[in-house]
Amino acid sequence: MSANRESVVAPLNFYRPNYHVKTPEMRSPEYVQLSTAAAITLGLVPGTMHRTACTHCLNLLVTYPEGCRANCSYCGLARHREEARDYADRNFIRVDWPAVRYEEIIERVRRDDDRGQFERMCISMITHPNSDHDTLTLLRRWMAEVPRIPVSILSNPTTMKRADLETLHAEGADIFTVALDAATPEIFERTRGKTVDSPHTWAKYWQAIEWAAEIFGPEKFGIHLIAGMGETEREILEVVQRIRDLGGHNHMFAFFPEQGSMMEDWEPVPRDQWRRVQLARFLIDYAGVRLEDMAFDADGRVTGFGLERAELEAVIASGKPFQTSGCPGKTDEEVSACNRPYGDSSPSDIRSFPFALGPKDVGVVRRQLAGEDVGTLHESVED
Ligand code: SF4
Repeated sequence: MSANRESVVAPLNFYRPNYHVKTPEMRSPEYVQLSTAAAITLGLVPGTMHRTACTHCLNLLVTYPEGCRANCSYCGLARHREEARDYADRNFIRVDWPAVRYEEIIERVRRDDDRGQFERMCISMITHPNSDHDTLTLLRRWMAEVPRIPVSILSNPTTMKRADLETLHAEGADIFTVALDAATPEIFERTRGKTVDSPHTWAKYWQAIEWAAEIFGPEKFGIHLIAGMGETEREILEVVQRIRDLGGHNHMFAFFPEQGSMMEDWEPVPRDQWRRVQLARFLIDYAGVRLEDMAFDADGRVTGFGLERAELEAVIASGKPFQTSGCPGKTDEEVSACNRPYGDSSPSDIRSFPFALGPKDVGVVRRQLAGEDVGTLHESVED
């Protein structure tokens, strides 16, 4: 955990004796892990997050003491880390995910401990023999007890058949997403395939995406992509356009090296590259711009966004393209309910803003888009 993060996020380790020490009995479906932001919103742990009062998505993760059986090179949950640390101490995306009884979470949501903040719940699967079955159990229980809050599934395609997607849909799952993460078959293989002794394949992931498009339908499926693992801007935006053409949306993360992962020595995605793909993704997903309308240089960098200057300026000024992307909440289709605070950066150098940007934030983003190497902490804190 970086010094900057410690200064703005409560020292959660202090509370571990109550909720976070994982034993062999702590396994799904009885237990789930939940994001720190969701735990704070539910009052399970005290704490505040930099400029973020709450999250509108209850992010859950199936959990087993033996952990994820895959070995993705950028992931804090990967199998190769099991000798080094207890699984419960591994991070999913940068931040801690405490383990809590599912029963307790449901009780708290039913009695409105989140004060009506949650607009969506999400179950993240991992690569484990019980993950498919337990995800279904968690979904059924939720739909029986809290059907007012829609559920997204962040899937693990490697273990899933078409019938599994059909069952999840029939049992009430609202949105189905696939964490493709890598933008090209080569990067996928290098980070998630046999090269790193991991079981995933590009073909199987795309098969699941196509099943999701058919079964869940337009606007009800999507993918996760991580920018900055060696792809060009054009390559990642080609995937974005392909998903949009299928009817889905793209949830994009900035690559940020997870401590203890095989890619811990990699640099985070450069700020200017990240802002360009973030903006272009938003234009393709929500503004009707197509990849063919955009211009690229010989290295695949975006040099034109396919909009008139004034229109582009208005989109940038809205700040929306630079907020966390993900499944929508109740009010604005273009803004994610799932804000994953500081899941892909530290609060001192925000990549995905977990809150609406103010004028100073937009000013910093404009400078980053122009190629200036500035962070966000001092420049963007609103007075
Ligand atoms: S399958 Fe998911 S949780 Fe498991 S190592 Fe890969 S990215 Fe991490």
